Amino acid sequence: MGKIKQLDDALSNKIAAGEVVERPASVVKELVENSIDAGSTIVEIDLEEAGMAKIRITDNGGGIEEEDVLIAFQRHATSKIKNENDLFRIRTLGFRGEALPSIASVSRLEMKTSTGETAGTRIMIEGGKVETVEKADSRKGTDITVSDLFFNTPARLKYMKTIHTELGNITDVVNRLALSHPEVSIRLVHNGRRLLYTTGNGDVRQVLAAIYGMNMVKNMIAISGESLDYKINGWITLPEITRASRNYISTMINGRFIKNYPLSKAIQEGYHTLLPIGRFPLVLLDIQMDPLLVDVNVHPSKMEVRLSKEQELNQLVTETIKSTFKTKELIPTGFTAP
Ligand code: ADP
Ligand code: MG
Repeated sequence: MGKIKQLDDALSNKIAAGEVVERPASVVKELVENSIDAGSTIVEIDLEEAGMAKIRITDNGGGIEEEDVLIAFQRHATSKIKNENDLFRIRTLGFRGEALPSIASVSRLEMKTSTGETAGTRIMIEGGKVETVEKADSRKGTDITVSDLFFNTPARLKYMKTIHTELGNITDVVNRLALSHPEVSIRLVHNGRRLLYTTGNGDVRQVLAAIYGMNMVKNMIAISGESLDYKINGWITLPEITRASRNYISTMINGRFIKNYPLSKAIQEGYHTLLPIGRFPLVLLDIQMDPLLVDVNVHPSKMEVRLSKEQELNQLVTETIKSTFKTKELIPTGFTAP
């Protein structure tokens, strides 16, 4: 008898979870992305103890048909791509089919979902093991509760930071999702306290105001630019309004938040010497491009991307910001260039 054996599903999902579900914020990110992909206009996020005790996400999206519910929790099961061709033209936030099985393998999960046409389905899974599947009410949408995250992975549980840190990570994730989807009303509640409410009316300035405050938004100006392969749009602060951290620079490509150091550098370059050393602007930059030119399949968290014409984009960004500051009319009175 040979020694090499295929791992069973529960175990391989748990291993995958190590990459996809690093902390409560990753669960929130994956589930809210699913809600957005499902066409929801309202997504409610209700947390207890920074998501360590409970994460509940309720949406009014398309829901999952009864016959698909169990399949949705299988590894690499997705409704978002079908073939290799689709992989290079990704328009949804998800596509790897890993989130649900991973999350379910390291928590106690309950999901109620319905397409609104027939009775809904309720499923309960504990540490990857399906405990219950039954009929449920038929409100269109999905309602997922993830409790006791990492109860069966003690090493990961130990690695969790304070409530304060974990909650900070979650609000970062939720803020970004709200900024990239102003057409979706995002509501975040922690231990009964409301932390964010966006109306979903599509006005990104309102989302910026909900997150950073109206005063900040008053000091932001719109930018837009275009090159052969890219279109950029965004809001940036005047050079006099700075932050001590690069964290306030948010960049997204085709509606997906990404982390890209050269891009963040290109933004700062646009301000050139207008920024004091060690200070950073608050920026929201939205890049639209042909999905063929960007590879989002770099890391399970889908935050890193590879761009095939990076130079062109970075130049466009720098030049767009530079020329904005050169156009004096755009700068309100009271502002004096250093
Ligand atoms: P992916 O998002 O990469 O497809 P997931 O494991 O996150 O993989 O989800 C698996 C599938 O379950 C999705 O493709 C989708 O069809 C379905 N699904 C998950 N969450 C929702 C939701 N909130 N509303 C409707 N369908 C959902
Ligand atoms: Mg997903």
